[in-house]
Formats: sequence, C-alpha cells, structure tokens
Amino acid sequence: MEDLAPRPGDLEPIETASRDEIAALQLSRLKWSLRHCYENAPFYRKRFDDAGVHPDDLKSLADLARFPFTTKADLRDNYPFGMCAVPREKLVRVHGSSGTTGKPIVVGYTAQDISTWADLVARSIRASGGRTGDIVHVAYGYGLFTGGLGAHYGAERLGCTVVPMSGGMTERQVTLIADFKPRVIMVTPSYMLSILDEFRRQRIDPRDSSLAVGIFGAEPWTNAMRAEIEGAFDMHAVDIYGMSEIMGPGVANECVETKDGMHIWEDHFYPEVINPETGEVLPEGEMGELVFTTLTKEGMPMVRYRTRDLTRLLPGTARSMRRMEKIAGRSDDMMILRGVNVFPTQIEEQILKCRALAPHFQIELTRSGPMDSMTVHVECTPDATAPDARKAVAAELSHHIKSVIGLSARIDVHDPDHIARSEGKALRVIDNRPKR
Ligand code: ADP
Repeated sequence: MEDLAPRPGDLEPIETASRDEIAALQLSRLKWSLRHCYENAPFYRKRFDDAGVHPDDLKSLADLARFPFTTKADLRDNYPFGMCAVPREKLVRVHGSSGTTGKPIVVGYTAQDISTWADLVARSIRASGGRTGDIVHVAYGYGLFTGGLGAHYGAERLGCTVVPMSGGMTERQVTLIADFKPRVIMVTPSYMLSILDEFRRQRIDPRDSSLAVGIFGAEPWTNAMRAEIEGAFDMHAVDIYGMSEIMGPGVANECVETKDGMHIWEDHFYPEVINPETGEVLPEGEMGELVFTTLTKEGMPMVRYRTRDLTRLLPGTARSMRRMEKIAGRSDDMMILRGVNVFPTQIEEQILKCRALAPHFQIELTRSGPMDSMTVHVECTPDATAPDARKAVAAELSHHIKSVIGLSARIDVHDPDHIARSEGKALRVIDNRPKR
C-alpha cells in the first residue's frame, strides 16, 4: 500500500499546535458557546438556570463539569426546532438522525455551520490520505442522513471531484468505480462488504481497482474488519466518526499514517468521557460514555451531549489533538446474556478469525423461560459449503466465542449470500425476545 503520511505544509497549524494553544482556543470558544446558548436558546437558559449555573461560572475547561448534560430525549422533546439558538430563517439546512434507535430527531445548520463542517470533513479526508484533485466516490446515503451530504461538501472543499453515488444499486457502484477510477471511497464498512461481494460476482479483482483509501464510519467496525477490507482491496481503511446531533461525519477521524484511533477535531468539539451511571468525568484513558460540547456551532449548539458511545480518550499521536479509541459500541447495543456484557463488535472479531466464514453476520436474541440465548447467523465461504466444513467452522466459532467472550452461542452457518446485505448501517442484532 502507498505511504500516505502528510507532507510538510499539508496540515493546518492547529493540527500540530501545542496542547496549551489548543486548550487556550478551547477555553475562549467554550465561553462564547455557553454564552451563545444562554442568550439565544431558551432551552439552555432554563437548563442552566435550573442547575444554578451561568456562563460566567466557566473560568477553566474543567468548570464545564458543573453544567448540565443534554440527551437525545431533549432533542425529541423539543422537536423539531426547539433547541435552535438562531431564528429558523437563519438555518440553511436540516438533517435528521437515521432513527435507528427510536423517533427521529432533527438538527439545523447555519451557513457558517455548513462551512465549518465542510472544512472538517476536508481535514478528515486529508488525514485519511485523500488529496486535492482525487476522485471521491461517496456511497453514504444522501438525504436526511448526514453521511452523504457531509462527505460530499467536505470532498468538494478539499478540491476533489465528487461522485455522488449514494447508497444502493450495488452493481452500478462497481461499474462506476471501474469506469471513473476513484482514489477514495466514503461508505459504511458494512456496505463496503456488499460492494466487495459485487466485485467478486462481476469477476473483477478488487485489488486491481483504483481505490487507495476507504473512509469508513457511521457504525462500529473492528480492526479485524480493517484487515479484511485492506487485504481484499489492497487499500488503506480508516475510521471516521460523527453524529447528527454534533455535526455529522467528521467530528473525529483516524490518521492514515498511524491508524490508532480517531483524532477528535478538538478546535470545534470539546470531548469528555463520563461514568454513564454517575455522570462523573473520568480521567483520560478510562472507558466510559463520550460526551461532546460544540465550540463553534451556531444553529443548534450542544452542551455536554451524551452520545451513548463507549470509548476512552487517549493522547494525540499523529496530531496534537486527542484521540478516541475505536468505538466498542453504543450503550444501547450492549447485550447482556447470563450476566456477560457483549457488543456485536466482539462477535465480529471472532467471526473474522474463521477463514471458512464470510464477514457478514447477524445476531438473534431469543428467550425460553428465564434464559436469554444468542444465535449467531453466519455464512460459509463458497469453498466451504460441504456439511463437514460447516460443522467444523461452527465448532470453531463457538469455541472462539466461548473462550474469548465467555458465552455459549448457537451458531447457524448459512449458504453464501443468505444474510441480508446492508446498503448503509448494518442491522446487527435482531431481538426476538418477548417484551417483559
Ligand atoms: P442514529 O443515532 O440514528 O444512528 P446518526 O446517523 O447520527 O444517527 O449516527 C450517529 C451514531 O453512529 C454515533 O452516535 C455512533 O453510535 C455511530 N457511529 C458513527 N460513526 C461511527 C464510527 N466510526 N464507529 C462507530 N460508531 C459510529
């Protein structure tokens, strides 16, 4: 694979600034943001008043811990525009969360917010190894979902040629990749696997494709999946993170030269990790729930927004800005089976150890009597369809899950192409347990 480390002069000064410079910028922007919320968003004024805090109480970054959290329920309760800090006419665009976990929410952006977002996605693409002049194939969905348009504006801002393909029409995706020869693709990792299947179906060797960089996000994926995709396409695979409430994709991004977790663009978002039970701020390095405060957002600023994503903060490496470890999962995705906590990403890691299995899977939860059980639906590869081979790989996976995670799971090895393919975010867990 190509060495894509940035050349001197490629980076913005803030990306390599000292920690002191970053902290000073954060403090002045945080003061502005809290005041903006208090003065212009009745929601925040009431919240702060009820909690007995005022923007003037913030003298240091640590003082942010005195301010109340914001949650998804607040966005739902104030649907659609109740949390805006500007008159509705100042919003130039709205997006909605994909609604994977309940009623959709809506977020609004001013022209300045859209411009900042484009800058940060451009920075993210560059961190991933993309360059001005590249062709960028965007296969994130366009629409209310922030993925497609977020990637699109960022790629344009970097000076790339954008192919706004959106999700779906997988056969066509492969045709356009073959014809236009993009260097960069932006897509969910699970949909990239569907595109990989289609390459193989059309008997095109994915390693011969023009793709050199894949920027994958919007759902959890593991380092094992990175190795799978990088090997299949002979390309770099890097992680991009974000959510509609904070901005969209490009809140944090991995650097291609290190691939060691996502650098948070701390000049625009202030991260904290808290104990999800007590709300207490945890020291760097400890695992907990990620919380963000926007530092520059005008339209719909967020103060201490609880993402429900579980990770830890780590010091900067390729950039001065701190990193967040690859997301294990959202607290809502955590399954508890016989006292063992497990995320779909842990199952993914075990599946990818089995050479006779394709990387597609779904987890089904059922209950008989008081006991919850897990069935992992997987697919054998085309050369492992014989009954003996299936039996052997089921035993292999069951052994990995038992020895690494400590769970007894039923394994169903299906024919190739059996599991529903994703065109965006994959549906990993099917909960067939009766509601209590
Ligand atoms: P929804 O909440 O409806 O899924 P979004 O499309 O805004 O709405 O999704 C944001 C969520 O997607 C994040 O909170 C996180 O759980 C997940 N996500 C986004 N990027 C990543 C990533 N790189 N790794 C893991 N999870 C991610």
